[in-house]
Amino acid sequence: MIVANWKMHFTVRESLAMTKYVIRMIRGGKYIPNIVICPSYTSLSALSKLVGKSKHIHLGAQNMGGKESGAFTGEVSARQLTDLGCSHVILGHSERRKICNESHEDVNAKLALAFQSNITPIVCIGESEENHKSGDALTVIENVVKTVFKDISASPNQFVLAYEPTWAISTEGSKSANSVEVVEALQLIRKTLSEMLGGGATEYTCLYGGSVDGDNAREFLKHQTVNGLFIGGASLKPQSFQAVIEAAKDIMSVQS
Ligand code: PEP
Repeated sequence: MIVANWKMHFTVRESLAMTKYVIRMIRGGKYIPNIVICPSYTSLSALSKLVGKSKHIHLGAQNMGGKESGAFTGEVSARQLTDLGCSHVILGHSERRKICNESHEDVNAKLALAFQSNITPIVCIGESEENHKSGDALTVIENVVKTVFKDISASPNQFVLAYEPTWAISTEGSKSANSVEVVEALQLIRKTLSEMLGGGATEYTCLYGGSVDGDNAREFLKHQTVNGLFIGGASLKPQSFQAVIEAAKDIMSVQS
């Protein structure tokens, strides 16, 4: 799976142009990854008409409101998103945690709501630079998983987990994590999820995100524990995103 997080970029026209490029990119291939395009809310309706019921391209929102409906000015509900054809929603992105003060408890509440609303959450989890430098990353990651998934009941195929160390996100530092550390973190996340929710550790869909582009995508994807990538900056540029998709196709053909 490749998730494209466009953040607060692209008008409707630009979103349509980029999506048409992605559609051309995957045409005719034998090995095609699932691609989840997450534009701004304003482009969801137009993109929904364009991608329709595509087998490979899915539509995701970058966030959703924490309540079913009501007097929450500026919020968008899960039901409004599914009504527009969204199958996925990103929850707990580090920018929302940092800029909008979203807590692990907020993410936990949204997660429960997403399951009730039949929208697949892409849950972002990752440690800060400070935790990384002090050697506490794995302890922090385990605690965050335990808080975010507290009292949640879900099967492995109902959500996607994206491991995103905040210091590796290109707008923070532009250095990706080392793939050995990513494997270690994902193994711990899988084990914790399996202990909390059941199912085998390998049944969960786990992605890595943080300064990934066409040059380093293979380095992460070659590990069986990395089921895909969460891409910010590189998903905004046609050639860069194509290079990531090509890397995913190559790895899929080698691993098949
Ligand atoms: C992100 O914003 O989650 C992200 C992974 O961005 P980038 O790929 O630009 O590091």
